[in-house]
Amino acid sequence: LVVGVPTEIKDNENRVSVQPDGVAELVHHGHTVLVQSGAGEGSRFSDAEFVEAGAQVVAGADEVFAGADLVVKVKEPVPEEYRRFREGQQLFTYLHLAADRRLTEFLVERRIDSIAYETVQTPDHKLPLLTPMSEVAGRMAVQAAAHHLESPSGGSGVLLGGVPGTPAAKVTIIGGGVSGTEAAKIAVGMRAIVRVFDTNPTRLAYLSDIFEGRVDLVVPNRARLAAYVADSDVLIGAVLVPGTKAPKLVSREMIASMRPGSVAVDIAIDQGGCFETSRPTTHSEPTFVEEGVVHYCVANIPGAVARTATLALTSATLPYLVQVADLGVREAARQHAPLGAGLSTLGGALVSQPVAEAHGME
Ligand code: NAD
Repeated sequence: LVVGVPTEIKDNENRVSVQPDGVAELVHHGHTVLVQSGAGEGSRFSDAEFVEAGAQVVAGADEVFAGADLVVKVKEPVPEEYRRFREGQQLFTYLHLAADRRLTEFLVERRIDSIAYETVQTPDHKLPLLTPMSEVAGRMAVQAAAHHLESPSGGSGVLLGGVPGTPAAKVTIIGGGVSGTEAAKIAVGMRAIVRVFDTNPTRLAYLSDIFEGRVDLVVPNRARLAAYVADSDVLIGAVLVPGTKAPKLVSREMIASMRPGSVAVDIAIDQGGCFETSRPTTHSEPTFVEEGVVHYCVANIPGAVARTATLALTSATLPYLVQVADLGVREAARQHAPLGAGLSTLGGALVSQPVAEAHGME
């Protein structure tokens, strides 16, 4: 099969869908890999590294799309890419179709067989192709918060861990799932005082085991949340209620009760955000101030660390990509349950039930 790796063209997207060692793996499995020249540049992989791994590097996106049986991407196709797809082509990438009716209709009409990374699911209900990005975002959230607490950034001038004789910053994390846990690890490592809220008692028990008393674990209610938020230098929103928008757990009033120059990072902004004052920002202008509090609400946090994000994403996707390339989307989805869960469109039909419901297309 011919696998095509185009350069990502979505704004500020520097990841690439396959790294050179992934190319070597695909070639070992007997596939041909077409890589667009420069596709790896944003993640610091040169054309020469891809060639060495066995890829055919071609000049433009048109050549990649024209030659590929299976197109493998990072982000969902943007409208400029639609015309490049051939009828019956296969696609493996993040799709987020529930939020994009136009793309859904396009994939159905052009009879593209597609599997969406974000809905690939293992039998224990884990989302293995979403997890690495949540891990990156969680760790980055604390790094961003530490930076924006600094005086020149407009922050309160508090050092996250303090030094002996001064108080450490207080970090409150709402949601102790994948991203919240990684945020807590980094905040603990930087010697901040860390508190994590989660509604799931099983999750709290797990966090209790791994943090061994170094993190305060709190079952949320409104009054408790208000008290903790008021006494936080850093607030991190990391909740997820699968399939729905994020609940607005932190009111404007709670944000206003924080000390001026404190930092609020809303990781859940891609699901609408969990603070009343949040609105999406980009890496070129990552923050804004509301009620005296610096808000960092970047919708694609991993984009800032493209190299790490590419390594994390491609390590997770490669085993699945090999299965898809070996068998084709239709057969891979039939034989491998996690890929079956991610099947979105097939032979001109919309297969994903949640996407069909979101668009009333049943
Ligand atoms: P997750 O499912 O692993 O964790 C979410 C946690 O929130 C769970 O432990 C759940 O019990 C908890 N929770 C749910 N409702 C709660 C409530 N009312 N109060 C307290 N806790 C509650 O999710 P995740 O992978 O960590 O992702 C979190 C969010 O981050 C998602 O919206 C995801 O899309 C987003 N995300 C954003 C970026 C970005 O770049 N901005 C990157 C990756 C993920």
